[in-house]
Amino acid sequence: MNGKQGLLLIADGLGDRPIPELGGRTPLEQAATPNMDFFAARGLCGNVHPYKPGIPVGTDVGHLVIFGFDPDEVYPGRGPLEAFSAGIMMGPDDIAFRGNFATVDERSHVLDRRAGRIASGTRELAAALDGMQLGGGARVLAKPLTEHRVAIVFRQAGLSTAVTPTDPNVAGHEVALPACTPTDGSAEAARTASLVNEFTTLCRQHLDPHPVNRQRRAEGKPPANVVLLRGVGRTSSVVPIGCQFKLTCACVAGDLTVLGIARLVGLETFHNKSFTGGIRSDLQAKARQAIDCVRQGFDWTVVHVKGPDLCGHDGNPLEKIRIIEDIDGMFGLFRRHLDLDRTIISLTGDHSTPCEKGDHSGDPVPTFISGPTVRRDGIAVTGESSFRTGSLSGLTARDVFRTQLDQLNVMPKRGA
Ligand SMILES: [Zn+2]
Repeated sequence: MNGKQGLLLIADGLGDRPIPELGGRTPLEQAATPNMDFFAARGLCGNVHPYKPGIPVGTDVGHLVIFGFDPDEVYPGRGPLEAFSAGIMMGPDDIAFRGNFATVDERSHVLDRRAGRIASGTRELAAALDGMQLGGGARVLAKPLTEHRVAIVFRQAGLSTAVTPTDPNVAGHEVALPACTPTDGSAEAARTASLVNEFTTLCRQHLDPHPVNRQRRAEGKPPANVVLLRGVGRTSSVVPIGCQFKLTCACVAGDLTVLGIARLVGLETFHNKSFTGGIRSDLQAKARQAIDCVRQGFDWTVVHVKGPDLCGHDGNPLEKIRIIEDIDGMFGLFRRHLDLDRTIISLTGDHSTPCEKGDHSGDPVPTFISGPTVRRDGIAVTGESSFRTGSLSGLTARDVFRTQLDQLNVMPKRGA
């Protein structure tokens, strides 16, 4: 543990645009945020670019940048991100795919890419595939995600990502189940394609007669009798934060994508059933867990709240205001229960999700870095407009990551 500790709250989709019904204010400006205002007044503020000015990002890329990575260098692809989301800790030799439980008929035609959006029984179906042995000693790891989604990892040295997907990715009409083929001339790619095709064959043998599918047929539902694969990738280019900076890092979250990114970059994850990643997530419990992580001695603790993003997607500014006020309550707990003389407390978002757009935008995100030893911008009101003149404005989320670490006095020096 270093002398100072950091705590960052990531409010997903926090930033917004002026809303006429709110008199031209944003939800953050309209919300009552006495605790955020207290912290903002004790530090640096600004509107921060999640990636590059004007470019909207997904939650995955937004978090990679918040954790200090350049997504152009290290983005591992959806397959590995979903593997980490499902709790599979990938090694450098592993390759991962996003999988879909799907329905094929006896002619190997894909009838439904999502097996009727299967919602229950996927845990049992994934368990029937998990640990599957393939020729030459390769092993398959399979873990369920939400609905029809399943993370699939192939584990063996010498595998290649130069292979085609088996997900035809066309909706609405039947297509033949594609075979996996290599996309370069290497022996590794040829062997990987053959393992993927062996997996597809075994998948059908294991899944078709599975009790979950017997039950589905009896209920007139399409069986989940194959797994379609796409989004292949590996993770070898990601050096965990703890190794780069000699820090211990924790992430408190319920959202599977955020938990996946956090595991990918080496944060220890903390979640329980009350952290739903939804609009009803127990924010007070999340705040208490984050406080506990700081007390356990983690150098940098991140706590994620999904709600503001969901309200932005729903175009619901009143609900977004309510959630921001609940988040302010989390800062109230930090204020009462942490040692403010040695804790650097920060707020940011992974992107803006304006209610007006109903989707992520490239607008920069209100951010502060606060602590007794942090310079002060003299801004005591939290909001997009008031933060405009703050010293963090115009920086990127990567700059903000480095600034937080520098405030903890752990950023390595360039030069002698
Ligand atoms: Zn997001």
